Amino acid sequence: MIPLQLGRMSPRETERMLEFDREHIWHPYAPMPAAVSALPVVSASGVRLTLADGTELIDGMSSWWAAVHGYNHPKLNAAVTGQLGKMAHVMFGGLTHPPAVRLAERLVEITPEPLTKVFFADSGSVGVEVAIKMALQFWRSQGRPERRRLLTVRGGYHGDTFGDMAVCDPVNGMHHMFTDVLAQHVFAPPPPLGYSADPDEAYLGGLAELAAEHAGELAAIIAEPIVQGAGGMRFYAPEYLQALRDIADEHGLLLILDEIATGFGRTGELWGCDHAEVVPDIMCLGKALTGGYMTMAATLCTDRVADGITSGEAGVLMHGPTYMANPLAAAVASASIDLLLSRDWRDEVDAIEAVLTSELDGAADFPGVADVRVLGAIGVVEAREPVDVQSVQEIAMAHGVWLRPFGKLVYTMPPYVCTEDEVHHIAAALQAIAESL
Ligand SMILES: *Cc1c(COP(=O)(O)O)cnc(C)c1O
Repeated sequence: MIPLQLGRMSPRETERMLEFDREHIWHPYAPMPAAVSALPVVSASGVRLTLADGTELIDGMSSWWAAVHGYNHPKLNAAVTGQLGKMAHVMFGGLTHPPAVRLAERLVEITPEPLTKVFFADSGSVGVEVAIKMALQFWRSQGRPERRRLLTVRGGYHGDTFGDMAVCDPVNGMHHMFTDVLAQHVFAPPPPLGYSADPDEAYLGGLAELAAEHAGELAAIIAEPIVQGAGGMRFYAPEYLQALRDIADEHGLLLILDEIATGFGRTGELWGCDHAEVVPDIMCLGKALTGGYMTMAATLCTDRVADGITSGEAGVLMHGPTYMANPLAAAVASASIDLLLSRDWRDEVDAIEAVLTSELDGAADFPGVADVRVLGAIGVVEAREPVDVQSVQEIAMAHGVWLRPFGKLVYTMPPYVCTEDEVHHIAAALQAIAESL
């Protein structure tokens, strides 16, 4: 048995652990057995991960958008342990509890006004499934079951389950191999690149045409607002998001915005949709919801959507996970929101944006680099060819930084609490990687 380690591990213990890991444990998008060992992390504090041999790395990934306050935060720890002393979990069918109610109150308060109803799911992927189900059930309840397809834009990422995969980018996305077994939805081209780019009238015209062509069979439009995450780390101008809202209104469609990556300030506004002053009918939250502590997601909807579903034949929303509204996760999520709003998160995000922008200036000139872009606390170096993950990670580690590239994308979304100096380290790593491509 591998002993549970509190501190460092001996090289022998580490090798035993890694060997078992390689042979028996799946990692995200990884082969089995693993081709290369994962790095052994034994603890994390502030913005640093500590490896088994004592090496410390500045986390440039926030554990995939989530750990916005860094690790081992005393206030978040206290929220978990405080709740743990009361109850770790209790079923949500027929029961409720203060952590769930407090969190839901908070979410209704801080999300755009028409969003008033909250469904707690256990991961972002399930949260998006719930959003899709809400949209489909809404139309079934209205006696319009033919409204069952979704309109989306290419370049999107909405999760790994089958309903979600069907709205991920069908070509460059990670799920093209399943196309033949997925629901067939309607895809518009990706929004043109560039947060500040002038809107492309031809693109907007094409979008409107596509929606009009399929309007009778569409239930909803689904998109990530402003930043498309794992589908390509692409930023687009607010006008395109406004166009999606207008098109939805014109044809009576619901607008689902997946804020799982963009939510809680990452793009420089609290919500991605704030950039465009657009309000969705259904909104998905996850990732930073719990400050990176536990898995939890929330799908919010308007009174109209909820009333529509409930007035239908089923009379209920047909979903209910076992760990719905887990009290530990709900408690830490409330604490994370309190912490975020108690600090000048906007200044923190702006400061990260400023350092990344100035330090990555020039990185686009390296021959292997196709594009460099920064928005809020997100920095992206897009290579011309898929990168060698191992060598990119080694360069980052030589700079004392943890980065995890995928495909052609080397990117960072640091914890908001990174000091200027720590962001400099991350940017220096990205520069060196850009040069090496
Ligand atoms: C990560 C992500 C998801 C899926 O969330 P999981 O918690 O990984 O299931 C869905 N949508 C977007 C935009 C994401 O970034």
